[in-house]
Amino acid sequence: SVEIRGVDKFYGSFQALSAIDLSVPPGKVTCLIGPSGSGKSTLLRCINFLEVYDSGEIRIDGRMIGYDAPGGRRMSGGALRRMRQSIGMVFQQFNLWPHMTARENVAEGLLRVRRLRRAEAMARAEAALEKVGLGDRMDNHPARLSGGQQQRVAIARAIAMEPRLMLFDEPTSALDPELVGEVLGVMKTLAGEGMTMVVVTHEMGFAAHVADRVAFMDRGELVAVDTPEAILTRPEDPRIQSFLRTFH
Ligand code: ATP
Ligand code: MG
Repeated sequence: SVEIRGVDKFYGSFQALSAIDLSVPPGKVTCLIGPSGSGKSTLLRCINFLEVYDSGEIRIDGRMIGYDAPGGRRMSGGALRRMRQSIGMVFQQFNLWPHMTARENVAEGLLRVRRLRRAEAMARAEAALEKVGLGDRMDNHPARLSGGQQQRVAIARAIAMEPRLMLFDEPTSALDPELVGEVLGVMKTLAGEGMTMVVVTHEMGFAAHVADRVAFMDRGELVAVDTPEAILTRPEDPRIQSFLRTFH
């Protein structure tokens, strides 16, 4: 689960997040939507403490990330790294190693972070690649994969670490339109298997069909969190209405 309570985030004097409250129960999917600059990426990055939040608390499965207590001291580097091992993240840019095959890219974290033996890391990498439908592309380098295939390697790399939580920041925004579906399909499968997920996306169809909750952000505030139906088909807030009009 993810529990966010009263989170503020400043970049200098600019307040990027204001008093954010959001709960994602185990096995549930929340999609974050909202205009550019509204704070979606900032909030997502606070969840794994890639961004330092300034007040409030964020708990992953009950354990506070970033600080030892609300308003307390910063967590040690080692403790933070251990917590992050249970959180997978997939970005718009795939960030694969160009000199490694798909299998080696997925195995890298298992070897370096989990310190698995090579044979076991490779076996787990292969299982993760099978799962994202790339069983026949394991020996390809990223340059020999389509954008959709590269993003599926990035997802395989995250799930091979057996995370308890997956964070996605616009995972399909850099893809040609015809490649979007294969990546969303993998994410839908993960959701169906009970993965807890927070997904920043502009794919309203995905939000409508896969999310348990949709959260709408505007200017650093979480304006509304509700069912996809309530947010996407009959929103009461004029800011949501005008945001959705830009997609039609
Ligand atoms: P987009 O849809 O364009 O990705 P977003 O909702 O993800 O937008 P954020 O990237 O979270 O928005 O940015 C929220 C606000 O914080 C923006 O006004 C942005 O300019 C500002 N911001 C983001 N990162 C930094 C930073 N490192 N330093 C200063 N300001 C930042
Ligand atoms: Mg963003």
